[in-house]
Amino acid sequence: MGLIDFQHASIRQKVSSLFVVLLSFLLGVIVFSVFKLNQLNQDMREVAYLDIPLSKLVTQLEFIELEQHLQLEEYQLQQQQHQTLKPHQQLVFQKRKLKSLQDHAVSLLEENLQQGRVVLNVVAHQQVLHQLVNYRQLSDAFEQHLSQIYEQSVADASLLAQTEALATELELEQKNLLQRISQMTSNDANFTEQQEQDFLLINIILGVCALVIGLMLTLYITQIILRRVNRIQSKIKRFGSSLSVDDNRTVAASLQANRDELAELEHDVGVLMRQLSREIASREEVEQKLLQLATRDKLTGVYNRHKWDEQINHSLSLAERGYPFGLILLDIDFFKKVNDQYGHSAGDKILKLVTNVLQHDTRDIDTVFRLGGEEFAIICPMQDLSSTLIIAEKIRVAIAQTHAPQLPAVTVSAGVASYRQNDSAATILKRADQALYQAKGQGRNQVVSEAELS
Ligand code: GH3
Ligand code: MG
Ligand code: MG
Repeated sequence: MGLIDFQHASIRQKVSSLFVVLLSFLLGVIVFSVFKLNQLNQDMREVAYLDIPLSKLVTQLEFIELEQHLQLEEYQLQQQQHQTLKPHQQLVFQKRKLKSLQDHAVSLLEENLQQGRVVLNVVAHQQVLHQLVNYRQLSDAFEQHLSQIYEQSVADASLLAQTEALATELELEQKNLLQRISQMTSNDANFTEQQEQDFLLINIILGVCALVIGLMLTLYITQIILRRVNRIQSKIKRFGSSLSVDDNRTVAASLQANRDELAELEHDVGVLMRQLSREIASREEVEQKLLQLATRDKLTGVYNRHKWDEQINHSLSLAERGYPFGLILLDIDFFKKVNDQYGHSAGDKILKLVTNVLQHDTRDIDTVFRLGGEEFAIICPMQDLSSTLIIAEKIRVAIAQTHAPQLPAVTVSAGVASYRQNDSAATILKRADQALYQAKGQGRNQVVSEAELS
């Protein structure tokens, strides 16, 4: 798969990848914190489990050694006053306690060093261990001397001097030991404090970084959305202005305050939809007009020759399937004279008048066409020759009886034919035309059927 092509990725992909970055960053912060806390815990443990108990033990040791020293002094004083020497009963108990404290301190150090609990000051702790072992040997020697002194009935001056020297050496060793341990403890404490400060500082930095990334992410997402919204809006506006229908609410409404970009987009889409629906409606209207222009006669409003060609073929195909029709061909008599005597506009009025009669005296399913000039055709579906003749005659009479003010009365001649098998538009029209011609020839104002053709 490879890396996502960020430029071409979807918004969801972009946002998710940025969230992955943010979450990994936060995860990093958490892992770092856990690691650091664990390290701090270990450091503290070194101080808490080793250094503090160790300094307590050494202090106790110091205390017991001091007591022993005091007893030695007391012993020397008694001897000078020639009193009977009584080995102190407490000495045995002190001896045992001293031993156990020393062993405890040594084992505490050894155990922690072996188990790797000592992390910060391994060398220093090893040195303390070494010092402690030395101290134990020194303390054993001092103990022995002390026991010998207590066992003797008469004081041995050189033994006393040796014991005295050992006690001083022991005291010095104890001081060194304590000093070293307290130094170590304070070093550890300083180090831990420094670590804590570093930890806090790094955590603050990481936290601020995470916050900044989060803010940037939010800003970025907002920017992407706004940019897209703006682009869509400008496209909508461009598209809207390319439409022929104007929506005067567009600009005024867009300037309304207290509306965010998405609400504005929603509004623009709404305006566009209204514009589109008006555009569709006006286009339908135009189409309707074009269709009318293409199929209707401009003066009379009835179907034109173009529609006639279409409709006669349709009627013929229906007739072939058993739905016959009758055809009336009709022409105004002496129309030229009307035009000549009354003017062209009067002729136009008569054309309209005749058309009204034709539409009035035919059924809804009959169709009237103006084939040209003052010649009309009527298709009468489901009519045979005789019933078509009746319709034609009715029309002829109606026209002859029509009188309009300031217009001359006119008459019409008509030829009637009906569907015959294998008829074409030309053949049926020809028969009707022949009948019409015969009607004209027989004196006009009459209807002739194709059956009467001579
Ligand atoms: P008949 O049919 O009885 O033989 O005689 P007619 O005078 O009607 O003969 P013709 O068909 O020759 O004349 C048709 C006239 O119709 C010719 C033309 O001036 C007129 N005409 C054709 N179209 C129009 C039109 O749209 N308006 C007007 N006013 N006259 C038209
Ligand atoms: Mg005529
Ligand atoms: Mg004519």
